[in-house]
Amino acid sequence: MRPTGKLHLGHFTGALESWVEQQNLLDEKGSRVYETCFLIADYHNLTTSLDTSEIYSNSLDMLIDWLAAGIDPEKSPLFRQSQVKEHAELFLIFAMLITSSRLERNPTLKEQIRDLNMDSLIYGHLGYPVLQAADILLYKGNVVPVGEDQIPHVEITREIARKFNNHYPHPVLGEVFAEPEPKITKFARLVGLDGKAKMSKSLGNTILLADGPEEVLKKMRTAVTDTQKIRKNDPGHPEVCTVFSYHGKFTPKEQHSNIETDCRAGSLGCVDCKKLCASNISRELAPLIEKRRYYEAHMDLVKNILLEGEAKAKVIACQTMQEVRTAMRLGETT
Ligand code: SF4
Repeated sequence: MRPTGKLHLGHFTGALESWVEQQNLLDEKGSRVYETCFLIADYHNLTTSLDTSEIYSNSLDMLIDWLAAGIDPEKSPLFRQSQVKEHAELFLIFAMLITSSRLERNPTLKEQIRDLNMDSLIYGHLGYPVLQAADILLYKGNVVPVGEDQIPHVEITREIARKFNNHYPHPVLGEVFAEPEPKITKFARLVGLDGKAKMSKSLGNTILLADGPEEVLKKMRTAVTDTQKIRKNDPGHPEVCTVFSYHGKFTPKEQHSNIETDCRAGSLGCVDCKKLCASNISRELAPLIEKRRYYEAHMDLVKNILLEGEAKAKVIACQTMQEVRTAMRLGETT
């Protein structure tokens, strides 16, 4: 995840919830199903902003949201991409294994160009999925928890892994990399408050995980609803309403179907509906906000978690690069 500072509800439903679930998933013997690694993608951040003045504080802010949501540093190394230099090394090698035309066909790239109103493309942006392939394969990732928009990137990772394995069989391992599978979350994407796009900080349509109840309500008041429901008693169409999509995630099932019925019947007004939605969101966020307060009061602990995570990640990354160099016969001396 790129370190853009405090996270929003879209990150929570699209990634964090599923990360925590997978981190804590146990098999029938009580052993963890997955070993998990979580990466602060600070190199990736350079593709959309060259300003690095707040990259550390933004990384820490994001890390606090991870911890508050339940990511456990004892189970998962949490680390910055730039502090494990093997990411850059593997990226360089992978960049030789894929054509620029393949990367130009990446649908996520086209979407980003549109969303971010980019008039020209930097080289690093085109290579974003190649660096992502290095991020995944450096840790021998075989399952990648992603939102729908990232599926094409996992496909590129699979292609690169295949190509590497074909070109460079390892004398002992045979294949260095497994082809990772995307694991898609149920609520992969949360619509922004403006109802037009995904929730995204750059689009200014978010509710932050750190927002208290008043802030959530204030933002919820701006949410786009069914434009044909002008007066309280007008029958509404919840299927086109942003607020209703949030109810789908944050409102208990029974209440949710009442909202649908009452909206359609014109017996529920948008003001009340938004209040209810805001309060349900705030109820969900309350434990995260409490944990955030704890970590904000213990910043040395947070910084230490990062350093320890980086040391753990480095051990895995060095081992993989050793295998890569052996397979490629780089650095041979005899
Ligand atoms: S009543 Fe609720 S679900 Fe219906 S249009 Fe208004 S905000 Fe949306």
